[in-house]
Amino acid sequence: MSDDLLEYALPGNRVLCFAPEVVARFRMHRQHRLWRKEAGGQLFATMTGKVVDIREATGPRPSDRRSLFGYVPHRAAEQAEIKARYARGLHFIGDWHTHRQAMPEPSSTDLHSMQDMFKRSDHDTPGFILVVVGTELFPEGLHVSYHQAGGWHELKLKEAPVVVEGGANGRGAKMRQSPNGKAST
Ligand SMILES: [Zn+2]
Repeated sequence: MSDDLLEYALPGNRVLCFAPEVVARFRMHRQHRLWRKEAGGQLFATMTGKVVDIREATGPRPSDRRSLFGYVPHRAAEQAEIKARYARGLHFIGDWHTHRQAMPEPSSTDLHSMQDMFKRSDHDTPGFILVVVGTELFPEGLHVSYHQAGGWHELKLKEAPVVVEGGANGRGAKMRQSPNGKAST
């Protein structure tokens, strides 16, 4: 198992995972040096059964406005990204950006912009993902949350393998806590 394998539990017994290239991009833009500007972009996933697999993280783009404490994405560029990837079977699933915080928390602006996504989206998406990349090593330095039209919650790492064979919804499976030794950077 790669130490880049980050899996989170989504509602409905679903799993959210990140491709190693995506984690690498988050890591590359961590604001752990003073001069590092905020960075961010969009998240694109494939959805197969119960697995939401984030395959690509875009950005930051040259057209974004970036500063030490702010990141304003270029909306037209975002729309173009969504269109191009949709044709390849990659669905827009949310946003990511960096914070100069060790263990990041979303700001009120972040939470508002997630709610705004529901107004802007033209197809009914049950929820969007927000990733905030902090300066601490992953997974501690990574905030991952699930946003729905009426609220949001932080996603927890899936700690142990869950057996999903057998029952139709895998509900009988026990989740075990286990040290996963995932600390990495
Ligand atoms: Zn933020």
